[in-house]
Amino acid sequence: MIRVHNLQKQFGPTHVLRGIDCQIAANEVVCVIGPSGSGKSTFLRCLNALESLSGGEIEVNSFAIHDRKTDLNKMRASVGMVFQRFNLFPHMTVLENIIMAPMDVKRLSRADATRQAETLLRKVGLLDKIDAYPGSLSGGQQQRVAIARALAMEPKVMLFDEPTSALDPELVGEVLAVIKALAHEGMTMVVVTHEMAFAREVADRVLFIDQGVIQEEGTPQQIFSQPANPRTQAFLSKVL
Ligand code: ADP
Ligand code: MG
Repeated sequence: MIRVHNLQKQFGPTHVLRGIDCQIAANEVVCVIGPSGSGKSTFLRCLNALESLSGGEIEVNSFAIHDRKTDLNKMRASVGMVFQRFNLFPHMTVLENIIMAPMDVKRLSRADATRQAETLLRKVGLLDKIDAYPGSLSGGQQQRVAIARALAMEPKVMLFDEPTSALDPELVGEVLAVIKALAHEGMTMVVVTHEMAFAREVADRVLFIDQGVIQEEGTPQQIFSQPANPRTQAFLSKVL
C-alpha cells in the first residue's frame, strides 16, 4: 500500500531524510519511533505530500507522489492524517467539523454525511458531543473527534504523528484505545509515537528512525527485546 524508495528531504542545507526505504502492506500497523529531530514528522508529511521530495520515490495507494502528473488532492483524499495538536476548527461544532470535507470533497448530502458522522462519533465514544464546540472538550475528546473527522473521508491509510504527545497523561489512554480499535479492524496505519508500550502491543512492525534513515526495523519483540543496532539500544535505554 505504501512504497518508499531512497526518500531524500532537504530543508536548505539541512539534509533531514537521507535515504528512507520501506514498504507497508495493506492492514499493517507500523509504529515509527526515534529521537526528537530525527525526521519522523518529515517522513509522515512526505507520505501525504505535505512536503515536496528532494529525491527518491513514494507510492501511496498506487499514487506516485514523486510524479508531477499525479493528482495530489486525490491521493490525499485516500490518506487520513492526525497530528499532535488536534486542529479542529474552533468555530464549528463537532458535527460540522466532521461533515465538512465529506460534503465538499466527496459530495455527500448533508443527511448522508450526518448519518456517517453519527456512526463515527459512536465509534469513538462521543456521540453525545455532536453539537459541542471543540473548546468545550478535553484534549483527549478533541483528538478522538479529529480521528473521526479523518475517518469520515474513508481513507485507505491513516497516518498519526504523535497523536497523544500534547495530552495530559490521564487522557492518553482513551485516544490510544481508539487507535487500537482501528488496528483491530484492519486499518493500515503508520503511527509515530513515544508510547513504547502501545507500539509493543499494537504494531506489526516497528521502524527506528535516527539521523534521517531507518536504522533498524523489526517486530516489536525484536526491536524492544533484542535491538541489534547500538543506536536503537541507546535510544531505548533512555525511553524505556
Ligand atoms: P521529528 O518529528 O523526528 O522530531 P522532524 O521531522 O520534525 O523530526 O524534523 C527533523 C529535522 O528537520 C529537524 O532538524 C527540524 O528542525 C528540521 N525541519 C523540519 N521541518 C522543517 C522546515 N519546514 N524547515 C526547516 N527545517 C525543518
Ligand atoms: Mg515530530
